[in-house]
Amino acid sequence: LIQLYGPLNWFGTYYRMIQQCFIDMENMFDLFDEPLEVKDAPDAKPLVVTKGMIEFNDVCFHYQPEKQILKNITFVVPPGQTFALVGPSGSGKSTIIRLLFRFYDIQSGSIKFDGQDISTIQQNSLRQNIGVVPQDTVLFNSDIRYNIRYGKVTASDDAVEDSAAAADIHDKILTFPEGYNTVVGERGLKLSGGEKQRVAIARTLLKAPAFVLLDEATSALDTQTERNIQASLAKVCENRTTIVVAHRLSTIINADQILVLKDGEIRERGRHEDLLMQGGLYADMWQQQQTKSDDNSENGFPTSST
Ligand code: ATP
Repeated sequence: LIQLYGPLNWFGTYYRMIQQCFIDMENMFDLFDEPLEVKDAPDAKPLVVTKGMIEFNDVCFHYQPEKQILKNITFVVPPGQTFALVGPSGSGKSTIIRLLFRFYDIQSGSIKFDGQDISTIQQNSLRQNIGVVPQDTVLFNSDIRYNIRYGKVTASDDAVEDSAAAADIHDKILTFPEGYNTVVGERGLKLSGGEKQRVAIARTLLKAPAFVLLDEATSALDTQTERNIQASLAKVCENRTTIVVAHRLSTIINADQILVLKDGEIRERGRHEDLLMQGGLYADMWQQQQTKSDDNSENGFPTSST
């Protein structure tokens, strides 16, 4: 019986961790307020990651038939590259992110990860290979260690601390009353917007996925925090295929390609300099953000370059 105790205890611990993970996933979906209406095909297979390529082929999508949201969207993100989605509010940027997660099925066209159509892939395996840094990070009412380990429930304490260090939040955590055992979230220590984003970055670094989706916060952080966060985000994106929804154009001037969306269509595409030269929508958006930034500076608010 004593010999059995070790394995059974180990099994129990992991069983509870995995069970908790599913409970948290459900909470997460509640918070996203997303319907779980998409079902795996009976013969769905796990995603096999080979190179890390994402393809949107002629994708059309609507939430309700009377309002078309995405119209013939086509793009290919080569392995390891970073693509940015920009455009006015309601143009369909977040919808593209939701479709990559397969929160909804599309009406026509195809979405492929490494050549495999996501309608034929097990949803769990798809989501296991995608890391997300959302606008607003969900913190669970648990300690900070648990909140970071959420990226990979089997990670060791050392691995959790390494990823916190890489996300530049380790030293901050050591100043918390009980260090990594400090409870955060609604009923615990409240973290700032920048700190919560770092938790999301640490989780993603721990998960080490092939694909990363970033939804940049709309509310600007102060300049120094913003710069530091950008440096940590760059680590997350390094050698990973990344799609970022950007609100501040200054953060994506190095993107491999920028897709400019309007009314559910890609109106312009290219690198920052090319798009500025075109003198179209992107150039207008850039100009507007520059002007806003100048106004803010005059008011004494330090801002980044937008
Ligand atoms: P923002 O920059 O404001 O976040 P966005 O470009 O990300 O905007 P989406 O959130 O993709 O835009 O929305 C695109 C369109 O789809 C909008 O007209 C929006 O009202 C609509 N929409 C979004 N979610 C739903 C939904 N669950 N049901 C119905 N319509 C929706």
